[in-house]
This record gives sequence, structure tokens and C-alpha cells, in this order.
Amino acid sequence: MEKDRRYDVVIIGAGPAGLTAALYAGRARVKTVLLERGAPGGQLLNTEAIEDYPGFDQITGPELAQRMADQAAKFGVQLETARVTGIHRRGDKQLVQTEDGEYLADYVILTAGGEPLKLGIPGESEFQGRGVSQCAVCDGAFFKEEEVAVVGGGDAALEEAVFLTRFAKKVYIIHRREQFRAQAILVEAARKHPKVELITNTVVTEVTGEEGQVKEITLKDVVSGQTRPLKVTGLFVFIGFQPNVQFFDHREHVEHDPLGFLVTDSTMQTSLPGIYAAGDVRSQLTRQITTAVGDATTAAIDAVKKLEAKKHAPTPVPVDLYGPTRPDLVGS
Ligand SMILES: Cc1cc2nc3c(=O)[nH]c(=O)nc-3n(C[C@H](O)[C@H](O)[C@H](O)COP(=O)(O)OP(=O)(O)OC[C@H]3O[C@@H](n4cnc5c(N)ncnc54)[C@H](O)[C@@H]3O)c2cc1C
Repeated sequence: MEKDRRYDVVIIGAGPAGLTAALYAGRARVKTVLLERGAPGGQLLNTEAIEDYPGFDQITGPELAQRMADQAAKFGVQLETARVTGIHRRGDKQLVQTEDGEYLADYVILTAGGEPLKLGIPGESEFQGRGVSQCAVCDGAFFKEEEVAVVGGGDAALEEAVFLTRFAKKVYIIHRREQFRAQAILVEAARKHPKVELITNTVVTEVTGEEGQVKEITLKDVVSGQTRPLKVTGLFVFIGFQPNVQFFDHREHVEHDPLGFLVTDSTMQTSLPGIYAAGDVRSQLTRQITTAVGDATTAAIDAVKKLEAKKHAPTPVPVDLYGPTRPDLVGS
């Protein structure tokens, strides 16, 4: 017999946001499933040392992920390995499609995060978390009085480079073009900063190190083709961040900001009724573990409240999960 996949809440993505939403929903005893395409932990699994999560002087990303997963499991939330491919409305429910079947839920909490874009050069993955980073706020403090390089030409690269001057004694900004995409005011601030040196028309082609730590990068001048080494202990890559929002088709268009991050109200509800967004996938000022868990707390508590209110509302028309999708019930 086909497994019953009807839930009060389906959570998509088991990073810090998803694991927190699972903890709150499980603790409130609502029927919840957490769908994750890989191992639980999200970006925590790519983070060596965390010094800014309250309550822990220092903890590794994988250890924090394990603690969060254990705590959510304690409250009875089911974690299933599944890659979500689509979310559609079906009556007053949400139909969540995965590569292994469909789930029906009253509420979906989307905590699928995003991916920082990578350079794709030799050494980048090997030294990830050992000098290579995509987060200056998170990792900048590990580079006190050291020399670091930032790659990118947009607002994020320029802002993060100036932020890194709080710690590093020298920050190189490496950009593949002559002109920066960033706002002129940010370029000016970087240009004038005594600790910053701009290197334009240049790409990074390799990261090398010793004893598991970055020691040098190779630069290539895109005009002359010449290469040269640059001694740095940190390489911060800010060439873009892609939110995981590929679940919605154009008929179910959801409000998002110019970069694709989902816009929510103060309860984390998106423009699609019944669908919340929390953590890195959401449009907001900063992307940190603390903000992810905060968003998820709000989303889960609001969903639980709405479920409670629904209990007292008139009984809705039953929906056949495994029946054919009625076109008049899909989309908005
Ligand atoms: C290098 C680096 C270092 C960092 N260091 C710190 C730090 O020191 N302190 C700090 O506060 N923050 C740090 N951050 C930021 C922090 O990791 C993120 O803000 C946080 O992980 C966001 O949590 P999230 O749950 O929203 O998303 P994520 O952690 O990205 O989790 C999303 C989850 O969704 C899953 N998923 C995506 N698509 C699907 C799908 N289709 N189906 C099923 N599952 C899916 C993913 O596999 C992933 O597990 C760092 C980030 C990076 C990149």
C-alpha cells in the first residue's frame, strides 16, 4: 500500500533554518516531515569553525549540525532524504513534488538556502574552510594581521573587502574586468582605503597551500596572459549567491527581490498563501546561522497557530493526493 504522505507541515531543506523549524513544529506536536536532498546541516557542513553562534565559544559546523539534527529528532520529526522538484497549490493544500513521490501539506516552510558561486579552480575545494571562504562576517576574524584576497567586482565583494580591513593588514581585490559593477561610492571607498589594493583585469587560476592552509594564489593578467604568485593566507570569493527557488513555475510566481531571494512578511509568509520562507533563501539584510534559526522559529510558530485556527474552521473539501491533478486547482 502507498505510504500516507499527508502532513500538517512539510519543511524543505535541513540546514539550520529547516532543523529549527522542525524542532518547533515537532515540539508543538504537529505532523511534520523534513525533506533534505543530502546530509542534514546545509552550509554548516562547509564551515570549519563558528565563533558567532551564541552559547558556543567555538564549535565546528558539522558538530553544530549534528546537535541541531539530534534535537529536532528528539521531538519526533521525520527526516527523509528527498530532492524537492516542485511546489504546487492543490485546493487549500500544498503539493510538494520530489524525485521519489509527492507530499501533501497544509503548510510548507521553505528553508532550501542557496549556493555561493565558486570559481571552479584547482585548490578551491581542497582549501574550503582552510583559507578559502565565501563569508567575511563569518571568517574575517580568523585573519588578524594577515594578507588576504577578495575576488569579485560587485557590491558584495567591495563591501566585504572593506569589512575585512578590520582584521587583515592588507586586502587585495581581484577583478576580472577594468570597471567594477559595484556602486561608485563603494569603489571609491575601497580605492581610498590604505589597506586595500585593487588588481583589475586579473583572474585567480589556482590556490595552493601548506599543512592544509592557504599560502598562495596564482594570478593571471587577462590582457597580457602573464601569471604571477601572490602570497595570501585567505581567499574570499564573492562572485554571486544563488538562492534555491527553482520550485515554482511561472503560473505560481512568487514575489522575490531583484536577486531572486523570496520576499516575506514579518511572519515569514511568502506571497503564496501557505508557503513560508526562512533563512538564506529569504530576502534580508544578512545571512547568518542566527538569522536563519530566528526566521525559522517565526515561520514554524505562525504555521502552528494557523493550524490551530484551521481546526476550528469548517471542514475543507477532501483532496485526493494520488488522483490526477485538476488544472483548475493548480496555480493561482
Ligand atoms: C563558507 C561559509 C562559512 C560560514 N560561516 C558562518 C559562521 O561562522 N557563522 C554564521 O552565523 N554563518 C556562517 N555562514 C552562513 C550560514 O552557514 C548560513 O547563513 C546558514 O547555513 C543558512 O541556513 P539555511 O538553513 O537557511 O540554509 P542552508 O544552510 O543553505 O541549508 C539549506 C538546505 O536545503 C537543502 N536543499 C536545497 N535544495 C533542496 C531541494 N531541492 N530538496 C531538498 N533539500 C534541498 C540543502 O541541501 C541544504 O541542506 C557561513 C556560510 C558559508 C558559505
